[in-house]
Amino acid sequence: MGQRRLAIIGSGPAGYSAAVYAARAQIETTLFAGQQAGGQLMLTTEVENYPGFGQGIMGPQLMAEMRAQAERFGATLIDHDVLRVDFSKQPFKLFAGHHIHQGSEEHVHPEHAGHDEPGHHAQLEEIAHEDSDEFDAVILATGAHSIPLGVAGEAEYTGRGVSYCAVCDAAFFRDKQVYVVGGGDAAMEDTLALIKFAKQVTVIHRRDSFRASKIMQQRVLEDNKDKVKTWWNAEVKEIKGNGSIIESIVVADTISGDQQEVPAEGLFVAIGHKPATDFLDGQVQLDEKGYVVARMSPSASGLALAQDHLDERGLLTFPTMTSVTGVFAGGDNVDFRYRQAVTAAGMGVMAALDASWWLEQDK
Ligand SMILES: Cc1cc2nc3c(=O)[nH]c(=O)nc-3n(C[C@H](O)[C@H](O)[C@H](O)COP(=O)(O)OP(=O)(O)OC[C@H]3O[C@@H](n4cnc5c(N)ncnc54)[C@H](O)[C@@H]3O)c2cc1C
Repeated sequence: MGQRRLAIIGSGPAGYSAAVYAARAQIETTLFAGQQAGGQLMLTTEVENYPGFGQGIMGPQLMAEMRAQAERFGATLIDHDVLRVDFSKQPFKLFAGHHIHQGSEEHVHPEHAGHDEPGHHAQLEEIAHEDSDEFDAVILATGAHSIPLGVAGEAEYTGRGVSYCAVCDAAFFRDKQVYVVGGGDAAMEDTLALIKFAKQVTVIHRRDSFRASKIMQQRVLEDNKDKVKTWWNAEVKEIKGNGSIIESIVVADTISGDQQEVPAEGLFVAIGHKPATDFLDGQVQLDEKGYVVARMSPSASGLALAQDHLDERGLLTFPTMTSVTGVFAGGDNVDFRYRQAVTAAGMGVMAALDASWWLEQDK
């Protein structure tokens, strides 16, 4: 049998780290980086919490380093999207190409979506060409993106006071007046991360109660009363600033429709994430939110999948394998909980090691 071929789909920390390990282990590795290569860290400025960079590193520079490292060990990088897959039999078939965008798509949270709302455009696109290739194993590392509010000023002030990751950015908001938008556990977690630094955190929610778990609500609303305020039945309509940094937000009352502009030094959007898994079209098990289910997923679906894959000693085999034998996954397309560059990189490495051991065993 010739050299076994591995495809990695996605070029964030998970995909590049997987490629470094797989290519260095002498596996013929092809990484489909996508048209927007580099993942979420391409959208940020300074990353202060990636180990090994004591003085911090700019997000795009970190991703350029990871890409160069994957190439150095011989991974082939293709800047095309995988458009569809055929996992019905081995070898697995991937169809890759690039889209020509003729319109724009802004993902809008279902709660905020309305077809006649500004900012919601249908996506008009064509596929310029499509190639197919076959692989013995596949790693899904397609990541996720935060769902934006879809309001004026949001794109302009992202990274300039508007953030989608409190764990990443809270420390930049010491003694500042900040707002969190959302009402689920993610919004509560962001609030808790922020109160360690910010002067005051106000949680803006469209309804008059949170849907977050009781314990999270208690930690936010009761244990931290002095620092946290709530603004019920409210939605952010616009984000304003001086061209380089956020200065205020326009908030509307969802019942009366009245609007007011208030000063803001930071705005954290926590209304959900969308994993990039639509292209899999049901060929791998996904959970109800679209995350890939791996044997190690910390969910009921993950536990159910894991139960059938314990060895005679009761140890889980190939923890990063999905519902399809030979297809592995790691990073933010699996991980709905930690969502950090270093955890994504770690999961990518786990997927690459599992894939290489499985390929060895499957010879
Ligand atoms: C603004 C911002 C700031 C952040 N700051 C920090 C920080 O300071 N520290 C930290 O630890 N974390 C930070 N994070 C979180 C961190 O970026 C993510 O946890 C991490 O990037 C996830 O890595 P990933 O490899 O799983 O996926 P991603 O980074 O999402 O990368 C996935 C890649 O796969 C590509 N892709 C998707 N579908 C396909 C397909 N079909 N074919 C080919 N390619 C595809 C995508 O285009 C993307 O390039 C931040 C996130 C954001 C948005």
